[in-house]
Amino acid sequence: MVMQSKSANIFLSWTRMLLWKQIAVALVLGLALGVLLNMTGNAAVTGTIKLVGDAFIAAIKMLVVPLVFVSLVCGMTSIAEIGRMGRIGIKTLVFYLGTTAFAVAIGLVLGILLEPGAGVSLVADGKVEAKQAPPFGELIVGIIPTNPVSSAADGNVLQIIFFAILFGLAINLAGAAAKPIRAFFDALNAVIMKLAEIVVAFAPYGVFALMTWVAGSYGVEMLLPLGLIILAVYLGCLIHAVVVYGGLIACMARLSPFRFFQGVIEPAIVSFTSTSSAGTLPVTMAATTRNLGVKSSVASFTLPLGATINMDGTALYQGVTAVFVAQAFGVTLSGADYSTIVAAATLASIGTAGVPGGGLIMLSMVLTSVGLPLEGVAIIAGIDRILDMARTTLNVVGDCACTVLVATSEGEIDIDAFNNPSVMAASKFENG
Ligand code: ASP
Repeated sequence: MVMQSKSANIFLSWTRMLLWKQIAVALVLGLALGVLLNMTGNAAVTGTIKLVGDAFIAAIKMLVVPLVFVSLVCGMTSIAEIGRMGRIGIKTLVFYLGTTAFAVAIGLVLGILLEPGAGVSLVADGKVEAKQAPPFGELIVGIIPTNPVSSAADGNVLQIIFFAILFGLAINLAGAAAKPIRAFFDALNAVIMKLAEIVVAFAPYGVFALMTWVAGSYGVEMLLPLGLIILAVYLGCLIHAVVVYGGLIACMARLSPFRFFQGVIEPAIVSFTSTSSAGTLPVTMAATTRNLGVKSSVASFTLPLGATINMDGTALYQGVTAVFVAQAFGVTLSGADYSTIVAAATLASIGTAGVPGGGLIMLSMVLTSVGLPLEGVAIIAGIDRILDMARTTLNVVGDCACTVLVATSEGEIDIDAFNNPSVMAASKFENG
């Protein structure tokens, strides 16, 4: 009887808990269970548990295409002034590229200071294939969809963004004749945001399952030999988030960095466990507009674009890894090599897909740019999931930081909502 009422109490306090707290508890419990299963030789069970995580990720991915298209069209129609749209676009790109180059530099410095590859001595035998960066012209032409329906079917976010911007512009230019279409998109947007809330309410279960799987399949002892590189990437991501994003939020936007980090906990944890910034997009969108008070006219533009091209975590990881590979293979890098790595990693991160392991594929491009052996990719692959968790989180938090900065500079943010944590209590998606 006592037991029964105790579990009823636990259940009640669980359902009443705020969503971000539920997600945080799920993360810790998943980690503990995963380590336990690994230590007791039951790692195989984690494969079954992972199915719950896969289902959650599939459900959030399901939302990406309609969410990007509909919210961007609505964003465009709410910023009718073309000049203003251009200004927001330029600010966003400057922020995205500037912080990314800075992130690679942090990665290089940490790689040099911590020397993660110093104790590892390897000899190249040149088997891994290099991935080439597509020519710039091809990249630009590739953004224009020849068939927007197939862009949607393929989930090509850049092409969808391009079409949505033009579509929104055309609605504005058509004026009164397009009024019903504008109302239709506003209504559709409300429905899709509701859909996102429903899916995101399942985040704690997805996070728990994915965390159990990662901890269960890697175990603690497998991580120790490559511990220094893991430390360098995690430390770099932390420094970049606190110093660069925290600093910009405090100095440029004159807002509290604490409130900012508190407001992005949900997308941070979901991206940490899902390792997909594109997949986390619905959660990122909900958090910035609801917890941080950013108007969706800005968020609907900066966030889908950020999830596609802004990858500070990926760039930082590529910087650290390039230094690691050079150290492990005994290659000395020159000053010019370091500058090449900054440029190559910035470009590679733009081309990286916001999916699990996307950065690992582009790593070969960075290593090739300075003639480093591509076997490095194979070594990193073994622990890539662990590194992916940190870098994806930084990628997503960076998108949120840019969104807040651009929104503040355009007066498109509700400062009271940003400063008021009780607004976050309302963001529980009514799952209690
Ligand atoms: N998983 C990362 C992301 O989705 C990309 C990467 O692998 O670096 O942002």
